[in-house]
Amino acid sequence: MGIKVAKFGGSSLACAKSFQRVFAIVMADPSRCYVVPSAPGKRFSQDDKVTDLLYVCHDHVQRSLPFSDVFKQISQRYLGIVKELDLDLDLTPELQLIESNMQKQSTADYAASRGEYLNGIILAAYLGFDFVDPALAVSFDQNGCFNLKRTEEKLVEVLASHPRAVIPGFYGAMPNGSIKTFTRGGSDITGSIIARSIKADLYENWTDVSGFLMADPRIVSNPKPISVITYSELRELAYNGANVLHEAAIFPVRQVGIPINIRNTNEPDNPGTMIVRQVDNVDSIGDITGIAGRKDFVIVSIEKALMNSELGFVRRLLSIIEDHNVSFEHLPSGIDIVSLVIIESQLAGKLDQIIAEIRQQLHPDKVEVFHDIALIATVGQSMAYRSGIAVKLFRALADAKINVRMIDQGSSEMNIIVGIENKDFEKAITAIYQAYNS
Ligand code: ASP
Repeated sequence: MGIKVAKFGGSSLACAKSFQRVFAIVMADPSRCYVVPSAPGKRFSQDDKVTDLLYVCHDHVQRSLPFSDVFKQISQRYLGIVKELDLDLDLTPELQLIESNMQKQSTADYAASRGEYLNGIILAAYLGFDFVDPALAVSFDQNGCFNLKRTEEKLVEVLASHPRAVIPGFYGAMPNGSIKTFTRGGSDITGSIIARSIKADLYENWTDVSGFLMADPRIVSNPKPISVITYSELRELAYNGANVLHEAAIFPVRQVGIPINIRNTNEPDNPGTMIVRQVDNVDSIGDITGIAGRKDFVIVSIEKALMNSELGFVRRLLSIIEDHNVSFEHLPSGIDIVSLVIIESQLAGKLDQIIAEIRQQLHPDKVEVFHDIALIATVGQSMAYRSGIAVKLFRALADAKINVRMIDQGSSEMNIIVGIENKDFEKAITAIYQAYNS
């Protein structure tokens, strides 16, 4: 029997009812040996996430404001779950210790991590699994950087004596024992590194959607689900705005080829999306896998005759933006022209100075700036060997009377990125989606 690591997000563990659903899912498959919980998420749209409340407590302590009301709200959520599940578990000593540690000015990371910690204790008791504190194994160095090698070694050692365990997500510890968290949404990363360390056959990531959809459902009504996607395609879609999984959660399992299965706790029979290294039967896949995009970019175009033969031109251009602490997202170029595509907010208060330096140092013939640009990535690995895919995209945009300001096809030939005006964003996504699905 293979081993699965099952990570459950905050919306899957927000109340006693959702714990019951998680129980049924874990018990239905004995290979689900390691379970990684998030902190309780929202139960309804106006509700608070426990992690957010913990940060509020910490902030109050920092500003010498009382925090017992907010802490009480947190305690009640956990105690309510324990009571409704009818567990023989007294969380009060844990809650008292956490409150007193917070009072003594513990760090923000300590405060935030307690959301997962407490949920882990409850879930372990409910499932009858061992509780393993990730502070024993998930290791950060003294500068707070995650140490994968040490974590793997420790996880193998610690989990050897726990064949079935609940390991809270989101945090680990530094060499001096102080708690350190990943960035927000980081329980996805914990699940991924556990799957890698124990050489799991599958990393299941249970959330409140049935995997990835071909386009954002807030823009396209009822987009088709994506049943299989490669890590590389997912990376492109996630970078371009499709968010289901923490970006950093892909790398640990990708390197060793463990597939990720995105599943829906509220619809456990739905197979969700399988994220794999490669799809063997390429003829079975559609022309494109998905469409994603982001708004609010700026394009800075620099034109100069014979730029192609001027040694170091682009290097000097890039050092100018680097000196201003600005990074670029894309760099499409022609013979005598190069364009920098930059996230608009990065340039706040800096653009005029950057342009002045480009003029002074590089003596271009022309510098043009285009604001309010949206980028849309149409992603699919079949683009590399199937003809007629790009034509559908550009015909759809032309028919919708959308002016394309930039085209960039990555050298992987896995995506075509178009730059259009912000105002055309939703119309363009809808047009592209329809072009490939009608
Ligand atoms: N609870 C943390 C957050 O809200 C981590 C997670 O849910 O993955 O960001």
